[in-house]
Amino acid sequence: MDTTNFIRMMPKIELHAHLNGSLCTKSIEELCEELYGVNSNEKVLLSKELVFDGGNLDQCFLKFRFMHELTATKKGLQLATELAIRDFAKDNVIYLELRTTPKKNSEMSKEEYVKNVLEAIERTMKIESIHVSLLLSIDRSKSVAEAEETVNIALQLKNTYKDIISGIDFSGNPKLGNFMHFIPVLEKARKNDLKLALHCAEIHNPAEIDQMIKFGMERCGHGTFLSELQLNEIYRRNIAIECCLTSNVKCSTVKCYDDHHFKHIFNDKKAPVILCTDDCGVFDTTLSNEFVLAKNTFNLTKNDLLQLSLNAVEFAFVHEHFKHDLKQRIRHYFKIQTEPESKN
Ligand SMILES: [Zn+2]
Repeated sequence: MDTTNFIRMMPKIELHAHLNGSLCTKSIEELCEELYGVNSNEKVLLSKELVFDGGNLDQCFLKFRFMHELTATKKGLQLATELAIRDFAKDNVIYLELRTTPKKNSEMSKEEYVKNVLEAIERTMKIESIHVSLLLSIDRSKSVAEAEETVNIALQLKNTYKDIISGIDFSGNPKLGNFMHFIPVLEKARKNDLKLALHCAEIHNPAEIDQMIKFGMERCGHGTFLSELQLNEIYRRNIAIECCLTSNVKCSTVKCYDDHHFKHIFNDKKAPVILCTDDCGVFDTTLSNEFVLAKNTFNLTKNDLLQLSLNAVEFAFVHEHFKHDLKQRIRHYFKIQTEPESKN
């Protein structure tokens, strides 16, 4: 089996995937057809425009408007959730953590939005060979009151959906909002056993990065602009860094793949790194593709691929016994592949 196929068939763990950015173009077309009818050429054309070929972070955030329109109804939201999970399952992702910001509109409250996503997750897990957890996202560009509402919804629904709701994500446009204002809300989440994945060091903002590291988190999203001192502290605190190669290059926060901070963190710092997609639909990638890119760019061995996969399991927001099962499945796959180890 060649490396690309080896990676494609490999059981994978995806920990950083935003629901609205994770549908591939084909699935968006399917969603458009289902919602607007088979002749919705205009919408299908728009779906192609959602793919982001490159630019800056602000331009990237604009891309999500169309998806928000598609997921503004119960039908659209549930189907989008199902399709996103199906896309990951097709790529042999066996454990997925989806994240989404609860949205209120004329058809549903924020709580109903989350319930719709949860229902769709439960239904899809019965069909596809994949386990899915949900992180509710706090949008840092919105108010602290909205953030508190999000945490309250997570806490309330966690009783009913305790195996699905696993944590809180802190995200949104990193140029907006003040992290310090959100600390009491995040503290509340943490005290109530919700795990934290914070988008941190996505842009150069050393003071905020220090604040975030001091506050603490289980996982750091991106970690692009961490200084050596900050990286050492992240390592000391056993925080994992979710690296999203294509996302960073296409949003121009990293110049090119060769320059990606993954290399330094994984090779020199030996800090726990996890490969993730961020928004695989918007960035036109898959988790397999990210592994292939990492392997080719940084000359990774199969042992490295195994290590990255086991890192992801270790930092997944699930119980220890489930982590054990996931690790066994991954190790078994690597064991039955008898190809001799090659650096190339
Ligand atoms: Zn993200």
